[in-house]
Amino acid sequence: MADLTDLGVKAIRDGVASGDFTAREVAEAFNAAVAGAAALNSFIVTTPDRALQAAEAVDADRSAGKPLGRLAGVPIGMKDLFCTDGVQTTAASHILEGFIPRYESTVSRKLWEAGCGMLGKLNLDQFAMGSSNETSYFGNVTSPWRKADGANTGMSPGGSSGGSSAAVAARIAPAATGTDTGGSIRQPAAFTGICGIKPTYGRCSRWGVVAFASSLDQAGPMARSVEDCALMLEAMAGFDPKDATSLDLPVPDWSAALDADLRGKKVGIPREYRMDGTDAEILEQWERGKQWLRDAGAEIVDISLPHTKYALPAYYIIAPAEASSNLARYDGVRYGLRDLPERGGLQDMYAQTRAAGFGDEVKRRVLIGTYVLSAGFYDAYYTQAQKVRALVARDFEQAWTQCDVILAPTTPTASFPLGSLSDDPLTMYLNDVFAVPASLAGLPAMSVPSGLNGEGLPLGLQLIGRPLGEQGVLNAALAIEQRAKFAARPDRWW
Ligand code: GLN
Repeated sequence: MADLTDLGVKAIRDGVASGDFTAREVAEAFNAAVAGAAALNSFIVTTPDRALQAAEAVDADRSAGKPLGRLAGVPIGMKDLFCTDGVQTTAASHILEGFIPRYESTVSRKLWEAGCGMLGKLNLDQFAMGSSNETSYFGNVTSPWRKADGANTGMSPGGSSGGSSAAVAARIAPAATGTDTGGSIRQPAAFTGICGIKPTYGRCSRWGVVAFASSLDQAGPMARSVEDCALMLEAMAGFDPKDATSLDLPVPDWSAALDADLRGKKVGIPREYRMDGTDAEILEQWERGKQWLRDAGAEIVDISLPHTKYALPAYYIIAPAEASSNLARYDGVRYGLRDLPERGGLQDMYAQTRAAGFGDEVKRRVLIGTYVLSAGFYDAYYTQAQKVRALVARDFEQAWTQCDVILAPTTPTASFPLGSLSDDPLTMYLNDVFAVPASLAGLPAMSVPSGLNGEGLPLGLQLIGRPLGEQGVLNAALAIEQRAKFAARPDRWW
């Protein structure tokens, strides 16, 4: 039998259902793989007992002839931004260290109800702010991928869902949850040669997910195939009255309707995404991607998204503004860290707790956010950025009169060495330049691996869909997956 840790979501589910192996065997194999991969630092907390308990429940149900959940027996990693009842939830911040929720996020609850087990809580950029997984209080995550030059430089797994991307690429988890506010599912997926989809805003409940920028935050799955992402998303999505922005719509059976035949479909190529600073190899992949989609029957059309270049600056006003408001709740009173000054009163306690508890990038965002929302600057920054956001959304509405799905690169570069951009926030922010427009417009978007660059590092292509158009995104991604035949995997050094 093949190594169980090489199996993806569907193969595990089907194998457990048909009795090829037990859920317990699967959980044990992944628990051991997780324990053997501490060098990646992809988990903040591991929960092998939770994985085993869930597996035993599945095996018992199967023996008793009871119906199994749609993901029965699949152990997964949970980004440490999702509150998990009884298990520390930190958002990778010192300020939440020791916080043990007494409730379960809706998305994680749905996954447990579908039969998944939890391998542990995955590392991330602090409060999901970052593109390299270097802002975590619990240390950097190292990508399992290394350049082919033999220098063994530690590479970034992307961010903020860097623990998720590293774990799935390293095959210590068949799938993981991610969240995407401005690219945090898609960019780490591209950096590590895996798939990740951010659904339409409102598809997955935000209830119980530590908030970064509430008008943008969306949960989604990360896995090694398009089909595995579809299966995970089916379990994660759905209406939740506890989230006022949750969409009250049925969850389509995306996996059953997967179809890589794109005849009759139009794929838009946005001319503004041809930006300076994009690697030549990424532009080449984009060309290959067009050819693959043409080969699948689609017609390729040139489109224009004229406000693209304003999307990133607008994002870096809107997201920090919302973050500064959302993070006001971490005051040392209600959750996690409390740093009591020797002298002084309540205000000093707030200030000292925040000074000690928030990392530098989080402080930078809170300062920017407070500034752009302050009296006198509000109209110049926040109101303007909201107008830009509306224009970016309108660009896409216009595009949907010409095409069904958009093909673009996911990122302007491949992964970079850890530490190489940490003193250069602007270049770091620019890594999300292709991801952010779909976030501002609330659209479904996915990254699918397309190949390796000359240094042996993975590259990804992005598909952006109409509102609620996850099926079109998944289908086009499937057409690419079938042609790219991405089978490379990182050599095991950890
Ligand atoms: N890298 C972007 C940021 O730092 C996006 C993060 C995210 O999507 N959570 O804001």
